[in-house]
Amino acid sequence: MSFDNLGLGTNTLNAIKDAGYTTPTPIQSQAIPAVLNGTDVLGCAQTGTGKTASFTLPIIERLSKGRARARMPRSLILTPTRELATQISENFITYGKYEKLSMALLIGGVSTEEQQRKLTRGVDVLIATPGRLLDLFGRGSLLLNDVQFLVIDEADRMLDMGFIPDVEKIVGCLPKERQTMMFSATMPTEIRKLTKTFLKNPTEITVSPPATTASTVTECLIEVSPRSKNKALRELLRSENVLNALIFCNRKKNVDVLNRSLRKYGFLSAPLHGDMAQSARETTLQNFKNGTIKLLVATDVAGRGIDVESLSHVFNYDVPLHAEDYVHRIGRTGRAGKHGFAFMLACPEDSRYVEAITKLIGHKISPESKQKQQNLNKPQSTSKPKKSKPVAASSSGTQPEKIQQSGVGRVKRSEPRTKRSRPSSNKLTDNGTPDVNWTGPVPAFLRKKTLIPSN
Ligand code: AMP
Repeated sequence: MSFDNLGLGTNTLNAIKDAGYTTPTPIQSQAIPAVLNGTDVLGCAQTGTGKTASFTLPIIERLSKGRARARMPRSLILTPTRELATQISENFITYGKYEKLSMALLIGGVSTEEQQRKLTRGVDVLIATPGRLLDLFGRGSLLLNDVQFLVIDEADRMLDMGFIPDVEKIVGCLPKERQTMMFSATMPTEIRKLTKTFLKNPTEITVSPPATTASTVTECLIEVSPRSKNKALRELLRSENVLNALIFCNRKKNVDVLNRSLRKYGFLSAPLHGDMAQSARETTLQNFKNGTIKLLVATDVAGRGIDVESLSHVFNYDVPLHAEDYVHRIGRTGRAGKHGFAFMLACPEDSRYVEAITKLIGHKISPESKQKQQNLNKPQSTSKPKKSKPVAASSSGTQPEKIQQSGVGRVKRSEPRTKRSRPSSNKLTDNGTPDVNWTGPVPAFLRKKTLIPSN
């Protein structure tokens, strides 16, 4: 299957070629012809399947004929988060580069002035989060009666975030005669119900069951006590070959606390959550994408839309409370044919959530995995104990304060001594030899070195 057979025009095909895509993904090969034919689409697909292009490409094609009138957008894409909205707008820029379509991004956390100016000039593509859209709609900055295409992206996430009433309000203001595309990674009953009111005879496309974890991700469960969680994470960050990683917490508060702790220990981390100003979130994402920041500590909501090529690791610092989130989280790594690693730190009280995840994904996440076998079979190094390099702690403008003050481009790595800590030589380093820097008690999982895969 090639893009040439899907009904797209030369301009769009050239833009796809420029983007380097040769073959449509399964959701693209099914959704693009359906949208071009004027059919509604219900896509059960998660991020990473190419779902954004599956609606962006045909919408660009359909909008290429015609012009927008002032304050009357011709298409509307609703997304739950600012990050996702920004990512979708980037897709429209990439794929619509040979068309003269105008676009506006209505997201919270930034001034409305520029957004209003764009609306006044007329936009073909309007990408919005529900709150900001309703705000500007209420002020009379836009009219919704010329919307011919509606996309509701990540509907299940909208539900989780409590946006469904807003979405219903918005849909109620749209013309009945329109084409609607709805995408959701999972199909809870509430979303299934909504599809009946939002969509007309949709073509249903399911590209991968929501409970599937990619075969390119090696999963590993680490059992820890709540008190040793931070230390266990740091040890993993040091002993694993972490190039860049997303670290998921369940709460915004935990994100900030963990990030501060990691930075205190010299890791190049940054937080990402919904309470941050939009500009700070954008800068953080940019820094993560360009490698200035190696570790991003995030909530599910903030981390959901992050599309970073070659993410080496995902750490579940907190076991997700919703099993589906586990699938979304670890789906950030192991993409584009690359191998990824996903670790989950679980305390005894997390057992019922771990069980729910196991049930959903249909396999046990345990150290008794292929990965463990590989490690068991790996020859042990006989080299001397060494100070392994700190991961994610290269010198850069974002070094933690402590390090800048010291004026050293290197990060002090040993754990600070506490009253309870004791010098010990039974903690093992990456190569299986005792770590002379270790001053704390040895977490159980470190005693079983084979549980920690190294790639
Ligand atoms: P999405 O599921 O829309 O978040 O897309 C995931 C990633 O796949 C993005 O980085 C896209 O640029 C990329 N992508 C989308 N379509 C294709 C394709 N046909 N071939 C290769 N990569 C693609």
